Amino acid sequence: MPVDEYLTGRNYKCNNCGYEDISYGYIKGDDFLLDTYEPCDRCESRDLGWLLSVPNIDRFSERFPYFDRGLGQIVTSKKHRLDVCKEKNVVPIDGNIDFSPELSRIEKKNKEDDEIVATMQDLADNHPGYSEYRKRKEQGWKPEFKHREQNDPGVDPFNEEI
Ligand SMILES: [Zn+2]
Repeated sequence: MPVDEYLTGRNYKCNNCGYEDISYGYIKGDDFLLDTYEPCDRCESRDLGWLLSVPNIDRFSERFPYFDRGLGQIVTSKKHRLDVCKEKNVVPIDGNIDFSPELSRIEKKNKEDDEIVATMQDLADNHPGYSEYRKRKEQGWKPEFKHREQNDPGVDPFNEEI
């Protein structure tokens, strides 16, 4: 009876550089096929010390192999995913996407808009050019907007009776 090979991940600590990560390779029956495991992620050394761990789950709770919807194909390992990304010219994103630069840009824009409104309000309240406006307002004047035909020959918009 043939024994199936399974892809699995193992936590390691690199004996060369001390880096800790997960390496993916095949297990056949009870035997780890050590030459199928990826070398150290940092220094490429194959001198890895295996740590006790739950197999097949890495620090982002990824399980390989899985169908990657973004890439549209089965991905068998972190390295395989990187290779596929390179091939398809896309950049892999691990963990959460950081939206804060976009948010702070919008907040800055809102603040600038608020300042424009405050400036306009200040002009209307204090600028000499608005004194007539302020006087009329104090007298109870409410501006009324009337629809008018465009280019009405009888009305000079700059000297209109209010
Ligand atoms: Zn290493």
